[in-house]
Amino acid sequence: MNGDTSEEKPVPDIMQDLDGEINLHWRRIVQLLAELIKVSSPNLNDQIITHATSEDITQLRHWGSPGTPQPLEKAIEEARTIFDYRIRTNHPLFFGYVPSGTVQLSWLGDILISAFNAHTGGRKAGLGACVIEEEMIKWLTTKINMPKSAGGIFVSGGSVANMMSIAVARDQKLDRGEYDRGVIYISQRGHFCVSKMSRVLGFERSQIHEVRCNDAFYLDIHDLKGQLVADRKKGLVPFMIVATCGYTETGAIDPIGLLAEIAHQEALWLHVDGSYGASVALSHSHSHLAADLGLADSVAWDAHKWLFSSYGCGMVLVRDKDHLASTFGVESRLSVCHAGESSRQLQPWDLGVELTRPARAISLWFTLRVLGEERIGRMIDYGMHVAEEVQAQLQAREGWDILTNVKLGVVIFRNNPKTSPERDLDAINAEISETLLKNNHAGIFPVDVSGVKYLRMCCITTRLHEEDIERLVEEIDKTAKEVGRKLT
Ligand SMILES: *Cc1c(COP(=O)(O)O)cnc(C)c1O
Repeated sequence: MNGDTSEEKPVPDIMQDLDGEINLHWRRIVQLLAELIKVSSPNLNDQIITHATSEDITQLRHWGSPGTPQPLEKAIEEARTIFDYRIRTNHPLFFGYVPSGTVQLSWLGDILISAFNAHTGGRKAGLGACVIEEEMIKWLTTKINMPKSAGGIFVSGGSVANMMSIAVARDQKLDRGEYDRGVIYISQRGHFCVSKMSRVLGFERSQIHEVRCNDAFYLDIHDLKGQLVADRKKGLVPFMIVATCGYTETGAIDPIGLLAEIAHQEALWLHVDGSYGASVALSHSHSHLAADLGLADSVAWDAHKWLFSSYGCGMVLVRDKDHLASTFGVESRLSVCHAGESSRQLQPWDLGVELTRPARAISLWFTLRVLGEERIGRMIDYGMHVAEEVQAQLQAREGWDILTNVKLGVVIFRNNPKTSPERDLDAINAEISETLLKNNHAGIFPVDVSGVKYLRMCCITTRLHEEDIERLVEEIDKTAKEVGRKLT
């Protein structure tokens, strides 16, 4: 930290009060850090969700514009209140969306990123962090068996990673005159951000063709092949298949090896949306599920899902780094940015959409550096284990249907007591979800699968003990019985 901890220097008048106040409150700020440790890993009996009344919202709006100066302490208190109104996606009993399994290390990493505020748009400005980012990317591409030519960049998340991949696929596979006939294939259960991002890039809704899913909830190869033939006959120009490694809803994985063969034969770009599931590549027990990821031309991968990072940390990885540069490379640079740079060396700003960007890689690096590779693998394994346990314990009880075997930590099930007619089951399961949340027993949301309501648990937690899992399943079962009695 040489040079960053110099003796106190005189500051201009306009900063005097502020720096003075921060120094004055330094102990309060250190105490705040200690409080935040608790905030970032809630206890079992903390509230899963805090609702706001309309008066609460009015109060929040009142704080929303800065107004006159407030004491630091007051702003800290306000921030605590502001953040209180939320679903604690990091609560150990929250299983909705993809829960946030952040480890404290990750936000300590965020503090380092913000405090140093290295400009990692260019290698000169943020050299140290840029080198770490390059090495992290190299390491991650190795973990998914991409070749040496591979590269990538840290981005804010899966949506942006998917968008960048679509842009690169377009540039590699379509001629300019073909843009309006280009077709992207994605399964009907693929993530909506792919369609959204295609439209951001100027493609019409009609250029995103949905491929059917089979009974195991992944892309039906025959349907894809049929559509490719039919679309070419119509004069359309198929250019990209978007496969999914870890559907958010079901955890299912598309047959990436087979899709890579088709993509190769048909000269299509194969992108894998691994926003949720790519992390399984680091697991000890299940990394085989991601063995084919490296056959993709590009992969989207979120660290803020299953690599325990706080939000805003994802990666886009490509088999050939030059492909990123040919889409995002900058020809004419501002001379102020350019000064002293070797013009041939690729800069982060040549590999992505941002110029000024935080050193995102550092929060994942910091976490992995402290935990080590072996441990992070075990943490991912544990999520798979929790899901398998939940499934086994539900199956051991009466009246529970399991939709599919556990895939990537996701269990989908519904209560189906033989005493209730089928037409009541949707209402029963919706009510189970609501009751569990109301009683703060669990955040488990319903999902619609082919018109039938199921309950879904994404179990990537590392914070539940075996006895907590047993108690949870017991609670789910008890709640179901109560709901059944009430509704029938
Ligand atoms: C979460 C998710 C996304 C979107 O990623 P963000 O980081 O939320 O932008 C895309 N695809 C899949 C499969 C996801 O699970």
